[in-house]
Amino acid sequence: MNSIGRYAVVGNPIEHSLSPTIQRAFADQFGKELDYTAQLVALDDFEQWATSFFSSGGVGLNVTLPFKSRAFDLANSSSQRAAISGTANFLKLTDPEIILADNTDGAGLVRDIQINLKSKLAGTQILVLGAGGAVKGVLPSLMTEMPEAIFIANRTSKRAKSLAQGLSGKKIKVAGGGLEDIPLGPWDVIINGSSAGLFGEMPALPNGLLLGRESLCYDMAYGKEPTVFMGWAIKRGASNVVDGLGMLVEQAAESYSLWFGSDPDSQIVIENLRGLTSF
Ligand code: NDP
Repeated sequence: MNSIGRYAVVGNPIEHSLSPTIQRAFADQFGKELDYTAQLVALDDFEQWATSFFSSGGVGLNVTLPFKSRAFDLANSSSQRAAISGTANFLKLTDPEIILADNTDGAGLVRDIQINLKSKLAGTQILVLGAGGAVKGVLPSLMTEMPEAIFIANRTSKRAKSLAQGLSGKKIKVAGGGLEDIPLGPWDVIINGSSAGLFGEMPALPNGLLLGRESLCYDMAYGKEPTVFMGWAIKRGASNVVDGLGMLVEQAAESYSLWFGSDPDSQIVIENLRGLTSF
């Protein structure tokens, strides 16, 4: 096996991260041995830790909660999609002096929806719940797929409004507001990008919200059991209800491809993770 440098996922907390398993599985597909670890970094230590990682032989980082905005700020070069969102889940040392920031979450979500789930985004009405780091990261990629309209709804309405204002374009209608402001629909796609489910809660959606017969209800959160949002959607008769494990693996595949120039087989990794008894 060939060694290909030092990589890590950094966050706080980090112990449940699947990224090391996923990235090592990708490397294995190409006969490579990947030095990829999960690194817990203290909340006030991210910049110092990342700078020292890159100055001591580190090549690439995935970045997760709560450091995605700070990762973007730390870099001195960025992709357009990272710049639009102001967040990065990917850093790469491209030159001794250059740290490139990118955000692969949106590409991962779009690929999971369109390729793996064979659902369409073009011409659809999309309702996005939440206005935190994950939602900021995926909106540029969702907009690239040319939906007809996106409504961003958040518990704290001003966050959704300001996010929508920053993205408003002529071709795609983007609006934002509180959960109580959500138009009843029918919605073709509902993406839950809120972290309510992590606390066993469901965003307080208006009664009478309408789903189309083919509507996709997608929770960015994932786990062994169906999430609270998935339960909500199933109760309302939605047939196309999924969690975000596919997005997780696809954003990792995009990272792998950006680091090494090879596209791993993500399907087999998704299937293997679904087969694990716990994660
Ligand atoms: P943030 O902490 O940045 O944002 C959390 C969001 O959830 C905010 O908009 C917050 O609203 C909202 N929220 C929290 N609790 C509630 C509640 N009880 N009711 C309604 N809204 C609530 O988190 P992230 O954006 O980083 O992550 C969001 C979710 O996406 C998590 O579940 C995370 O696991 C998942 N994720 C999945 C990925 C994948 O690859 N599958 C990648 C990244 C994230 P407010 O502004 O009012 O506080």
